[in-house]
Amino acid sequence: MATLGIEDFELLLQANSVLSSKLDSAELLQAVMELATRVVKAEASSILLLDEKTNELFFNVALGKAGKQIKEIRLKVGEGLAGWVAENMKAAIVNDVQNDPRWSGKGDRKSDFKTRQVLAVPLITKGRLIGVVEGINKKDGSGFSELDRKALEAFSSQAAVAIENARLFEEVKGEKEKLSTVFAEMTDGALMIDAKGVIQLMNTAAGYFFGIQPQKAIGSVTIQDLIAPFMTVPPLEMIFEHYENTATIELKRREGKAFYLSGVINRLMNNKGEPLGYLFVVHDVTEMRKEELLKRNFLSLISHKLKTPLVTIAGYAPLLLEDSAPLSDFQKKALQTMKSQGMHLSNLVDKLLTFSLIESETLHLNLKPACIRDVIDETLALMKPYIEGHNVVFDKEEHLKNLPLVMIDHERICEVIRNIIENAIKFNDKPEKNIHIFGTRHKDWVRIGIEDNGPGIPPEEHPRIFHKFYQVEDSFTGQVEGAGLGLALTERIVEAHKGAIKVDSLLGRGSVFYFTLPVAPEEDSKS
Ligand code: ADP
Repeated sequence: MATLGIEDFELLLQANSVLSSKLDSAELLQAVMELATRVVKAEASSILLLDEKTNELFFNVALGKAGKQIKEIRLKVGEGLAGWVAENMKAAIVNDVQNDPRWSGKGDRKSDFKTRQVLAVPLITKGRLIGVVEGINKKDGSGFSELDRKALEAFSSQAAVAIENARLFEEVKGEKEKLSTVFAEMTDGALMIDAKGVIQLMNTAAGYFFGIQPQKAIGSVTIQDLIAPFMTVPPLEMIFEHYENTATIELKRREGKAFYLSGVINRLMNNKGEPLGYLFVVHDVTEMRKEELLKRNFLSLISHKLKTPLVTIAGYAPLLLEDSAPLSDFQKKALQTMKSQGMHLSNLVDKLLTFSLIESETLHLNLKPACIRDVIDETLALMKPYIEGHNVVFDKEEHLKNLPLVMIDHERICEVIRNIIENAIKFNDKPEKNIHIFGTRHKDWVRIGIEDNGPGIPPEEHPRIFHKFYQVEDSFTGQVEGAGLGLALTERIVEAHKGAIKVDSLLGRGSVFYFTLPVAPEEDSKS
């Protein structure tokens, strides 16, 4: 029985290394044809690939003058000799093609090539047919042998793998190109940084937003340098340290013409869960923010302007009522209405003022070292008329005295404490309302806790109660007066002090509100 010789093996090995070095389809098919010609010592060879959609074989590469016409040839699977090989997934040796009924002669008619002998073998990878390779006319004219068939089959199994790999590679490359085009052309600014913060990818829009050409930024500029001209909320470090996978970010240019960006940051991980970096996608929201600012300023202006005349009306009406001059019943009634409606309107304007304060871009703080226990006492003294109307028992821990001074805006922190205590009373339906106030020091922070024995807040509501206008359904709290602005303002003030506020509470078990304030720097604490 005929077997392959050393020379054949050497050629096959060589073929293997040539094939595995080529990923470009056209180049690879060219190499396959040249090698097939050598393997079976033929005058020429051809490759037909299978178009799975139409179930047709077509010439992907064809050389010479007739190349163009040959490329147009399509053979149905089953049609012609190559079609027979494809259909049966079996090799065929035909040493007299003109007398073989399977021979279609389509290729010869389109070129001036004269085919006499053909050795055709299927190209198969993972049990799937991908085409047919043919050796044409044995060079010495003797005709193809069984040995040639074996050699071409051995070669074609390697060629099939290489062709399939090249096809897959081109598919991936095509997808990558599509993605790159989308990335480059999108109007949102997109950039990717590695775990050290160095920019790895950046599109044109991001380059435009941050004023740098992407090719200059990639590989050398860090995200910190890139966003240095912007104020960011929340600060970037906070996102890197505290956020899980996704965070939203707002950027505002510090100097020059107003420019605002808004976007999302996604943490990138590899499939082992190790951090790869972050993807930033931002868009220009300047027009929107400017409009919001105009609205806020207008609201703030109106409420401030309303406040003064209202204070006058609400202040004079009671004075007139108390005046000794005799008043008719009608006059008394009119003054009483003016007094109560004036107060009502004044409350509304206070809410408007609170709202514009929450919305304001910067909350100006007058920071001074203060003893938190004194601030608490002062707030309770101011709230005396309110507290006296309800049955409240306060329990202030002695330890509050020993806490270090905190660096705060006195008035604003009074407001924070007042809001929390007011809620602890107004939502509490117990005959005796207990309020426990305590504090501890944690590193550079003082943490104050205010606990009540009220109805409690269900856990899913905890993040929402700090949103403006949010109120837990009244079935829980017997919702009373208020506009859902108190805690939003409280959070805004605490965060302006760089502190944090949170609630610990279970339905039916009361609530504890905690907030942190910065310890005053050493020198201030001593003075
Ligand atoms: P407001 O007091 O004007 O309703 P807040 O922003 O102060 O608004 O509070 C938001 C909501 O959170 C309240 O409406 C109430 O439902 C709930 N809440 C706040 N504090 C307490 C508390 N101590 N006990 C129970 N529910 C509370």
